[in-house]
Amino acid sequence: MSVNAYADNLDSAVRYALETTRATTVCPFHSDVTIRVGDDAAESHAFARARKIVKSDGMMWKREVLMEEIKLQLVDAADGECPQCAHSMDAFPRGPKGEN
Ligand SMILES: [Zn+2]
Repeated sequence: MSVNAYADNLDSAVRYALETTRATTVCPFHSDVTIRVGDDAAESHAFARARKIVKSDGMMWKREVLMEEIKLQLVDAADGECPQCAHSMDAFPRGPKGEN
């Protein structure tokens, strides 16, 4: 099996673990935007779950590799809120009619 296939598996295992533990969530309006919730407990829970998944899959990932992938995906995610939603809020900061 190629290295890329393993990498894909690790990537999706981590993604799945993060989403199912609610360490990250997908924006309800932008399905391509992943948001980091910022919950430490959920993130360590996600690590434990990802570890279980890769083990049951027969993949022998080192702890450091797994942690690195989790870190990458968390850094990649939007922090706390969807930037696209935040952006459209900025366009109408006072509602459609304005304040005056
Ligand atoms: Zn959004």
